[in-house]
Amino acid sequence: MAWSFDPRTAILVGALVTWLTAGMLLLNWKSLPDNVRPSLRWWLAGIALHPLGFTLIALRDQIPLWLVIAVGATSLAASFGCMAIALRSFYGLPERRMRLYVITGMVGLAAVWFTFVSPHLQARIIIVHVLLAVLIGSGARAVFRRGGPRGRVPRFTGALFALVTLLVLVRAGLESFWPIAPDQLLAATPVNLACIGGLLLLPVLATVGFLLMCAESAQVQLERMARVDYLTGIYNRRAIDDLATRAISAARRHGIPLAILIVDVDHFKLVNDQHGHECGDNVLVEVVRRMREILRNEDLIGRQGGEEFVVVMPDIDLHSARAAAERLRRGFSDTPMAIHDGDGLIELPLTISIGVAALDASDQQFSHLLRRADRAMYAAKTEGRNCVMVADGQMSQGLR
Ligand code: GH3
Ligand code: MG
Ligand code: MG
Repeated sequence: MAWSFDPRTAILVGALVTWLTAGMLLLNWKSLPDNVRPSLRWWLAGIALHPLGFTLIALRDQIPLWLVIAVGATSLAASFGCMAIALRSFYGLPERRMRLYVITGMVGLAAVWFTFVSPHLQARIIIVHVLLAVLIGSGARAVFRRGGPRGRVPRFTGALFALVTLLVLVRAGLESFWPIAPDQLLAATPVNLACIGGLLLLPVLATVGFLLMCAESAQVQLERMARVDYLTGIYNRRAIDDLATRAISAARRHGIPLAILIVDVDHFKLVNDQHGHECGDNVLVEVVRRMREILRNEDLIGRQGGEEFVVVMPDIDLHSARAAAERLRRGFSDTPMAIHDGDGLIELPLTISIGVAALDASDQQFSHLLRRADRAMYAAKTEGRNCVMVADGQMSQGLR
């Protein structure tokens, strides 16, 4: 028996697969990462509308023509627009919904106009395909914007959008030279197969890519959360440990100095006791803001726990580190802090004690350096607080 390929059946199967994909996404909605849900919502809308458009197109001889033309073309355009918005929103770009509505409206209008009002198949095909290319192309543009995608998965997804944009434009270009006969619209010609095939398969293939992109982004967010102190936004203990270890290796390798500070807020417990824990939290945020303001950009600040911070200062020797610590101490003692407590803004005089230590040959690892800085910080507390002390043996006197 001769084998014959029936594009309509293929379109219906393709539409069914896309709907099943949308259904699977919907059934598993709760397990999808929170941070990508807004863009996934657009994606879901896209892959739900897409099979509607294609089903109507495949059933063109069985249903009223206006349904195929008005609803079919419009929902297909809307579906690609939604996917493009999903990609834009994924990358934090403005969604530009208005553009989607206008272009989708133009597709519907052009399809209806050149079918019922002033019938012109060639014009309809060219205009609809060019507008579809604009929508699909904006999906590719969202991915390949300046800066470019990082990683294989976004590149794969963007390339799919770019390829289908190209196929649709080729189809529009060919139509301007060799207009298709009305009865050939869904015939199994190479051009039709490539163009319709691309439009039909894009959502399912791109969904694989987009879901992988979402998974990657959730992973990156988790890794970030594992390294950042959630209250103050600076590095947590684990991250600063890691970064300090690397900075120490680099300092050794390049023969440059490195110093660290341990900064502890004086009598912080009193803030909590007198103004409440929430006010204490605000103080910690303000302490970090002030430290950032005074320190250099290349200094790494981490929260060791509670009201204790560590500053890793690459390319700084003991003298400069002590001077920086002194600047920091004055930055606190000279200006009281304006803090929100429950009732409004209050002024709190707040001081800090700092231990300074510089990397030396005896430091096998970060913890050794940290221990010396910590001891110096406790010496500063014993000296009466609001004080800078340098690690044993490195320099004797404290500063106040
Ligand atoms: P010292 O001058 O000797 O450093 O005295 P201190 O009161 O600053 O130190 P102490 O270690 O006695 O108290 C630290 C307090 O910090 C106790 C703890 O409840 C509080 N604390 C730790 N983490 C947080 C936090 O995230 N938020 C708030 N508000 N308080 C915290
Ligand atoms: Mg303290
Ligand atoms: Mg402490």
